[in-house]
Amino acid sequence: MRKTYDLARVRVDALRGVDLTVEQGEFVAITGPSGSGKSTLLHLTGALDLPTSGTLNVLGEMLSLMPDDALAAFRRRKLGFVFQFFNLLPTLSAAENAALPLLLDGTPRGEALDRGREILTRVGLADRLHHRPEELSGGQQQRVALARALVANPRILLADEPTGNLDSEAGARILDLLDEARAQRGLTVLLVTHDHEVARRADRIVRLRDGLIESIERPVESERALVPPPQPSPLRGEGVSLREDEVP
Ligand code: ADP
Ligand code: MG
Repeated sequence: MRKTYDLARVRVDALRGVDLTVEQGEFVAITGPSGSGKSTLLHLTGALDLPTSGTLNVLGEMLSLMPDDALAAFRRRKLGFVFQFFNLLPTLSAAENAALPLLLDGTPRGEALDRGREILTRVGLADRLHHRPEELSGGQQQRVALARALVANPRILLADEPTGNLDSEAGARILDLLDEARAQRGLTVLLVTHDHEVARRADRIVRLRDGLIESIERPVESERALVPPPQPSPLRGEGVSLREDEVP
């Protein structure tokens, strides 16, 4: 995929031809200097924005060809997002924010809030259920955003520095939660991080520079967390696949 932002006076080539295939259940860490295209890659993968050229295939669906309403439903049901700037709704409590994807998808309010509370407890916020975002620290808001991304059991988690504001204990807890979701239900994780401790728990580390993949490495086996490998999918063509189109 390529992505060019056309501003009034300048064109920014944020992605200059990225071709990446991610397997179901894989944990891919995306690293690279500021401005190298990490957030752009994540946004395009989640079809929050369209590539300038190239195609995006997620879970066997060509997202570039999907009509908007179908795309919105696909995102709601299959994808979980943690944005760099949380995007929590200021008037809702932590529990309501965490339950939001379920509420939007028609889950009865009581059940949605139960699941919101449950997942907030899992990320260590059992004592903050009724706080509004402005009453929470940055790290706590980040964990609410992560809870919201996971509450509806997405197939793929796209997370932009989800542990950036966390101390190492809270960060490790989040990674344990992700490992569990990967082992239990094959959750696929694409995670932007600057943290070496986080990246080395990934299956692969994709390093971007100037809108291109500079390197892809596998962390040394002995350094990796001991996660049982996810069950291979019975369906062919699953996983996130980003392929650049032939330029006509
Ligand atoms: P990273 O997340 O690695 O810091 P980004 O993907 O946010 O990098 O940005 C890559 C490049 O694209 C940067 O030069 C940035 O200024 C530019 N960019 C990102 N988003 C936009 C946008 N919406 N409009 C114009 N330029 C953008
Ligand atoms: Mg970014």
